[in-house]
Amino acid sequence: MMLVDLDDTGRCPTAATCAGCGTGQGELTVVTAGSGAGVLCVSLCPDCLTDDLAVPGPAAARGVAEHCGHLDIALSDMDAVLESGWSW
Ligand SMILES: [Zn+2]
Ligand SMILES: [Zn+2]
Repeated sequence: MMLVDLDDTGRCPTAATCAGCGTGQGELTVVTAGSGAGVLCVSLCPDCLTDDLAVPGPAAARGVAEHCGHLDIALSDMDAVLESGWSW
């Protein structure tokens, strides 16, 4: 099985606005978040970095697919890694 670091944000683009509060102020940091659909990356401002981020279902599914693209893996690869015991 391919071993993938789902936490790798090295190739994830930083969004123009914070995924938590929607503002584009301050320096945004790309972090990974777990969701029911898998692991995705989100851009957060310093204020939102400390909060537990709740990503809505449809947005999470889209984010998971996009993050797979950043990692250059297929959704099925992510599923395999998650099933292998990746835990949040
Ligand atoms: Zn924010
Ligand atoms: Zn990503």
